[in-house]
Amino acid sequence: MAVVPRRAYFEEILPSVDADEMYSTYYPRANAGLGVGNVDPDWLEHAECYRYARASRDAALRSGFPTTLVPNVYDFDYMKKEQAGQAPPSALAGEVIYGNNHGKKSLAKTYLPAASATGRLTITTLHRVTAVSPASGSAYQVEMEQLDTSGAVVATKRVITDRVFFAAGSVGTSKLLVAMKARGLLGRVFGCDQWMARARSLIQIIAARRWRPAR
Ligand SMILES: Cc1cc2nc3c(=O)[nH]c(=O)nc-3n(C[C@H](O)[C@H](O)[C@H](O)COP(=O)(O)OP(=O)(O)OC[C@H]3O[C@@H](n4cnc5c(N)ncnc54)[C@H](O)[C@@H]3O)c2cc1C
Repeated sequence: MAVVPRRAYFEEILPSVDADEMYSTYYPRANAGLGVGNVDPDWLEHAECYRYARASRDAALRSGFPTTLVPNVYDFDYMKKEQAGQAPPSALAGEVIYGNNHGKKSLAKTYLPAASATGRLTITTLHRVTAVSPASGSAYQVEMEQLDTSGAVVATKRVITDRVFFAAGSVGTSKLLVAMKARGLLGRVFGCDQWMARARSLIQIIAARRWRPAR
């Protein structure tokens, strides 16, 4: 699913973010970059694979519930070929939660090739960050373990860098930040009030938001 939230909800939940900019620039840009699309409504009405979706929709409508189509990043032209037996099935083979072998416009087909084409990206797989700490000046030291495909640690590495962006998901990022906080590695957070955190680094901005005192 690739759903743009209702603007009223967005404005209520994130009042400090410029909704005009989000809805005129960033959501359209993200949808284009991700290749978001909708099922062909005429095909939906007769395709065998949508038989049960039609049955559910009709039952909902009979019960007075409106329905809507949900945009997503599956290639619907590919799905038509799957249905016609002209391409290896993926969506129609029940693939989804663990990834699609075909048909899905995943990040490996969209954002990652675009980032790679800049020549400024190196993807280093099978590495687990274990700690980030301030290094000399405004730099940071990132400690990591290199794993093999069974998950065993085969090497440890340290990298010094000017900037660190945490993108380890809500659990992974929180785990790293909590561990760093406990080790006293996050530094002093200053100038932090309800709406604004002034900090010397992204780490501290994240820390400020996560550890802001409850009011
Ligand atoms: C079953 C399921 C279905 C979903 N369906 C949808 C959907 O249809 N539409 C939608 O919009 N959202 C969906 N979501 C939510 C969406 O997947 C998440 O919101 C999104 O993936 C979060 O992106 P992220 O980059 O923040 O984190 P993630 O995608 O979780 O990526 C974090 C990455 O960091 C890695 N990592 C963690 N710790 C470390 C570490 N210490 N060192 C190095 N790497 C680390 C992880 O291995 C992972 O690869 C779904 C989620 C689930 C679980």
